[in-house]
Amino acid sequence: MQTSFTWVGGRPSVDFTATLGKRQQAPFERIPEPADLGRWFQEAGLAQVAPQVSRAVRGLAVELREALYRLFSGTALPADVGVVNRWSSRRLPGPRLTAERSLEGTSPTATDLLGVLARDGIDLLTGPLGGRIRTCAADDCSLLFVDASRAGRRRWCSMNTCGARAKMATYRSAD
Ligand SMILES: [Zn+2]
Repeated sequence: MQTSFTWVGGRPSVDFTATLGKRQQAPFERIPEPADLGRWFQEAGLAQVAPQVSRAVRGLAVELREALYRLFSGTALPADVGVVNRWSSRRLPGPRLTAERSLEGTSPTATDLLGVLARDGIDLLTGPLGGRIRTCAADDCSLLFVDASRAGRRRWCSMNTCGARAKMATYRSAD
């Protein structure tokens, strides 16, 4: 059975870190096979069709994912910056115009897309929301999200799941 992915991060690079679920509790891999990563790229909207992914590229993707996770969660290892920079410095195919002035459909490769994720991560870390990357406050959830709220006090990955459960718990404890 295919695992479903979660999309609460607010940025592709943050959602990518959620492909390892339940990090602090009982980690499980949401992209165990190369094809799962291809499907993730497609569902993330980064590719029209799922790109081919080799076993080697899937391994490199996991390495990049973990480097991004540590950078986002403030637990970076010295090597993590190098991993991200290696991917971000890859040349990416630019948009192409056809003679009819329309955009030529490009199909990025899996390695192109890892470059896109690395760039997104750098843009986030060095941008105005770099200090707003948070871990969900629920005990049984380890999802990261970008708090783009004006007040900057968002605590839950999603109000539909963890936020709703926390509210229920508050009601119950008020009895
Ligand atoms: Zn949560």
